[in-house]
Amino acid sequence: MSENKDQKFVYDFTEGNRDLKDLLGGKGANLAEMTNLGLPVPPGFTITTEACKVYLDSGEAPADLREEVSAHLAALEAKMGKKLGQSDDPLLVSVRSGAKFSMPGMMDTVLNIGLSDESVAGLATQAGNERFAWDSYRRLIQMFGKTVLDVDGELFEEALDEAKAAKKVTVDTDLDAADLKKLVTRFKKIVAKQAGREFPQDAREQLDLAVEAVFNSWNTDRAKLYRRQERIPSDLGTAVNICSMVFGNLGPDSGTGVAFTRDPATGHAGVYGDYLQNAQGEDVVAGIRNTVPLADLETIDKVSYDQLMTIMTTLENHYKDLCDIEFTIERGQLWMLQTRVGKRTAGAAFRIATQLVDQGLIDEAEALQRVNGAQLAQLMFPRFDESAGGKGGPTLLGRGIAASPGAAVGKAVFDSYTAVKWSRSGEKVILIRRETNPDDLDGMIASEGILTSRGGKTSHAAVVARGMGKTCVCGAEDLEVDTKRRRMTVGGTVVEEGDVVSIDGSTGKVYLGEVPVVPSPVVEYFEGRMHAGADDADELVAAVHRIMAYADRVRRLRVRANADNAEDALRARRFGAQGIGLCRTEHMFLGERRELVERLILADTDDEREEALSALLPLQKKDFVELFEAMDGLPVTVRLLDPPLHEFLPDITELSVRVALAESRKDANENDLRLLQAVHKLHEQNPMLGLRGVRLGLVIPGLFKMQVRAIAEAAAERKNAKGDPRAEIMVPLVGTVQELEIVRDEADTVIAEVEAATGTDLKLTIGTMIELPRAALTAGQIAEAAQFFSFGTNDLTQTVWGFSRDDVEASFFTAYLEKGIFGVSPFETIDRDGVGTLVRSAVEAGRATRPDLKLGVCGEHGGDPESVHFFHEVGLDYVSCSPFRIPVARLEAGRAAAESKGSDSR
Ligand code: PEP
Ligand code: MG
Repeated sequence: MSENKDQKFVYDFTEGNRDLKDLLGGKGANLAEMTNLGLPVPPGFTITTEACKVYLDSGEAPADLREEVSAHLAALEAKMGKKLGQSDDPLLVSVRSGAKFSMPGMMDTVLNIGLSDESVAGLATQAGNERFAWDSYRRLIQMFGKTVLDVDGELFEEALDEAKAAKKVTVDTDLDAADLKKLVTRFKKIVAKQAGREFPQDAREQLDLAVEAVFNSWNTDRAKLYRRQERIPSDLGTAVNICSMVFGNLGPDSGTGVAFTRDPATGHAGVYGDYLQNAQGEDVVAGIRNTVPLADLETIDKVSYDQLMTIMTTLENHYKDLCDIEFTIERGQLWMLQTRVGKRTAGAAFRIATQLVDQGLIDEAEALQRVNGAQLAQLMFPRFDESAGGKGGPTLLGRGIAASPGAAVGKAVFDSYTAVKWSRSGEKVILIRRETNPDDLDGMIASEGILTSRGGKTSHAAVVARGMGKTCVCGAEDLEVDTKRRRMTVGGTVVEEGDVVSIDGSTGKVYLGEVPVVPSPVVEYFEGRMHAGADDADELVAAVHRIMAYADRVRRLRVRANADNAEDALRARRFGAQGIGLCRTEHMFLGERRELVERLILADTDDEREEALSALLPLQKKDFVELFEAMDGLPVTVRLLDPPLHEFLPDITELSVRVALAESRKDANENDLRLLQAVHKLHEQNPMLGLRGVRLGLVIPGLFKMQVRAIAEAAAERKNAKGDPRAEIMVPLVGTVQELEIVRDEADTVIAEVEAATGTDLKLTIGTMIELPRAALTAGQIAEAAQFFSFGTNDLTQTVWGFSRDDVEASFFTAYLEKGIFGVSPFETIDRDGVGTLVRSAVEAGRATRPDLKLGVCGEHGGDPESVHFFHEVGLDYVSCSPFRIPVARLEAGRAAAESKGSDSR
């Protein structure tokens, strides 16, 4: 980054506004906004992110920065009528980092800059309060030592605890000026020893060092990792806010607090927040002393309370959203220190969005931007009924990280082997480990949920559980897991193998005993078992109903379901599916029908093969009739058989053992011998890249023809029964147009035969999946033979990355996530740069060949919020996902449309 001559690196709070977050960071932009709204913000200025960028690039602050800071400081001093660090009446300032996005790992605030051995006396005189001055000074040394000079913060805490213990008091306010004076001496010694330098006495040096420390904190390991994981660009830099100090620790008529403009849990109007008398900044959140509810401020200081309420209304009307606020009262004078749009629970997000529409503050399009699919998904999990408790009921054991949502109950097991064994005998189990590794995979599959005492959201347990859709709580550090003795201890409680535990993957809570599970009201609503207008419908359901209606009204993408039986299809329809985007036909070859598949594979002659196929035909047809009936009037895309045939044969090891044993008894079964031969013949090193998809259809005579006939006959039957079947035939794993042409020509012949025989015009369309890189790269040619494309982004991701999903998620994805190579698994969210580029170019090439080509996606990304936005952008016609994710896809499709309309008109 080069310096531009006229570039301005410092903005007074009066010069900025909330739209300047890139330049002034979130905190700085909002302080400026409040200043310009005429709210009581202590005067100050912001050093821009551009200055930070120069510093990070060159290792030095911009040449003009010092002078600019001096000019703004002089103006501030003039306004305040005192100079920074002035010995008889010091101006003190705070220094706070503030990037565009708030980020863990960035530098904490340093308060009271400007105090020194000399000016502390001036402050004491001015404030008429010696204790206050020394308390402020010890805080400065403590914060400065820790955050600017990298001294271990524990050392200060220990010294403070010792001072309290020596005086036999428990709270810091019981230390008097003399105690604090001694503590200052002690703190200075700690700094000198640990930092190898004296605590700086020059106020400007304190300020400059603190600013530099903020710049440097951009590159702490924690901040870097967080940015990589959250895909926040690493070159944004942070701003630095320098704000004149106001004091909440000047006595009982002073204090500090945090507040929300409405209840962040429900959105209801009211007074929500905490207040702490005679305290400064971080005391409120640090939990050093007990805070009082904000409502109590009305009795403590009615004037400030009334003013705060008015300000909160102003802020909410101005930001048109729930805001959270930090404030300080200095001797009866209220000061606003920070505001931002506040965090909220998933349920509150929906409620607040509709409340704001009703208040006329936002419109429907904006309401859609106030919620998201992840929140809706959260609301769709069953929950624990926490009101169930009492004596003998479940007890809360502790809390970990909510790693994969859901509510799971089962018997505690401490190793994978037991998990598998118990679950085979019908027990529900929760696998509890210190942390999991690939050896635990079978146990994880067998369990209802997974609980670990170590690791975060990217740990093996978390990643694999999310991939499997299993409930997981990880990193519950209070649990001492002893796998050898098969037990865990929490506090004084011992949980033995076999004891029932309940884990909540949405809140991270862990219980001993069975917590009853209640269904989600939102799911009850989607299922049609609860009506949004009904008397017993809760506010949340009503809000979800309204937001879904907005989304459906604006969305362009249609939403279909991946479903392969009538039951799933009907549920999908209730959830709002506008068709089936993927009916996998493989389950139709399992169970009792497996034997027919074996006969097909073992057939030596055409007749034998035909016989096996003819036996399968009516069964397949019946499946399709049911499906077309369930989805009457809506499109149903049926995919011809995809997985390698050996998946329908017995396991190679089991069969080998069976044959070997039989041979040793000399009663080998002819069929088993032939089966074993076939299994050997079909065995592949890399089945994912082997004989599957269209390749099967091309080498197993009659297989695809039988499936096409079953589809056509089922459609004809429905038509003759006055139904409206809309079947689409989809060919999997095509790599080149020639493959598709052969299958299509055969299919056309079969369809014509069925139409002639049944006197129907079936209007069946034939298309293909685009799930191999070569298919995407030659999409223009493939479109000549396809009436539609459906992107199979599961296989496309596997083949573009060269990842075998079944193997890599459990083996090295944790390492990749932890190293920040990707922030989220590419199987969860579409990899825009790689896989996405192929999708985009295939869309363009396909439409260039055939302008009316219908385009959809049926990989799991079809139900992923961020991916839905991508599919909207590239112009697909629909997304298809599992029935349960349909509401999420509908919502996100609406959000994507509202967002792009907004940006078009801008
Ligand atoms: C895909 O590959 O994206 C797809 C939908 O097919 P399957 O997951 O069945 O391989
Ligand atoms: Mg596939």
